[in-house]
Amino acid sequence: MTPRPRKASAVPAGLLREVRASALRGEPLLAAFDFDGVLSPIRRFPGQARMSDRTRSLLKRLGEAKRTRTLIVSGRALRFLRRAAAGTGAALAGDHGLEFEGMGPPWKHPALDELARHARALARAARKATKRLKGVAVELKTATVSVHWRRAPSVRRDPEPLRALLESLAPPGWRVAPGLMLWELRPLVAWGKGHLIEYAQAGLGARILFVGDDHTDEEGFRRLGREAWCVRVGPGETSARWRLHGVEAVDELLTAALEARLQVEAAPAGRARERSSTRRAPQR
Ligand SMILES: [Mg+2]
Repeated sequence: MTPRPRKASAVPAGLLREVRASALRGEPLLAAFDFDGVLSPIRRFPGQARMSDRTRSLLKRLGEAKRTRTLIVSGRALRFLRRAAAGTGAALAGDHGLEFEGMGPPWKHPALDELARHARALARAARKATKRLKGVAVELKTATVSVHWRRAPSVRRDPEPLRALLESLAPPGWRVAPGLMLWELRPLVAWGKGHLIEYAQAGLGARILFVGDDHTDEEGFRRLGREAWCVRVGPGETSARWRLHGVEAVDELLTAALEARLQVEAAPAGRARERSSTRRAPQR
C-alpha cells in the first residue's frame, strides 16, 4: 500500500482506524520510537538533539494511559537517552537494542561488554585515521562507533572514500553501515531494534507501534513484519506499512494514540467492549 499525504491529518487514516479499533478492543499497546529524526528533529550537532516540550509531554501522557507502554529504541547510548528522555517514563533501549532498561530488570546483550571493548579501540583508531578530515566527528557509543560527516563538506561530496577507510579499520565481525550523514561501525550481531522490541513485547502481549526513520529502523520494520504498525518518518524506500511526512507529524500520531487510549479509559468498560464488537471504529 502506498501511503498518501492527507489534508485533514498528517497521520494516515488507515493507521488511525487501526489504533482506535485496537484501543476499543482493550488491547495492550507497546509504542516504540526511534529518537533522532522521530522524537527529535535531526540537529547539526548530534549533542543538541532534544525533544520539544510538547513531544515530551505527549510521550509521558501516552505512557501513563492504561495498558500502554512507551519505549525509545535508538542507536544512542543509554546514558544519552536517560538525559534526553528524563521524566517521560519511557523504557529505554540504547545501542540499537543491545542495552535495555525501564521495563523489568535492566538487560544487556550477553556479548555487550566484549563488543564495548572493541568499540573503544575502534573509536580511537577512527579518530586517528580521520584527524585530517575537517568536520568529521567520531562518536563512541557503547558498542558502536558513529562517524558523522554532516559537517564535512569534502565527505558530503563523496562519502565513499571515508567508508573505505573505515572498512579498512573494521576487524572481522564488524561492518560499516550507513546512517543519516554518518557511517557506523557496528558489530555483526543478529540482534537489532526489531529483536529488542519483540523482547520487550513478549512480556506484555501488546500490539506494537514502531516509528522510525533510518536504516536500523528499516531492519526493525522487516523483523516485526505486518503484524506491527510500522511507521516510517520522512522520505525514502521503506518496508513500513505507513508513513509520516516529517517529524512534526509524530506529535499528531502521539496525540491520536493518546486520545484513542484515553477515550476507552473514559468509557464504561461494558460499552467499550460492546462498541468494539458491534461496529467499526469511527471513520474519519
Ligand atoms: Mg533516527
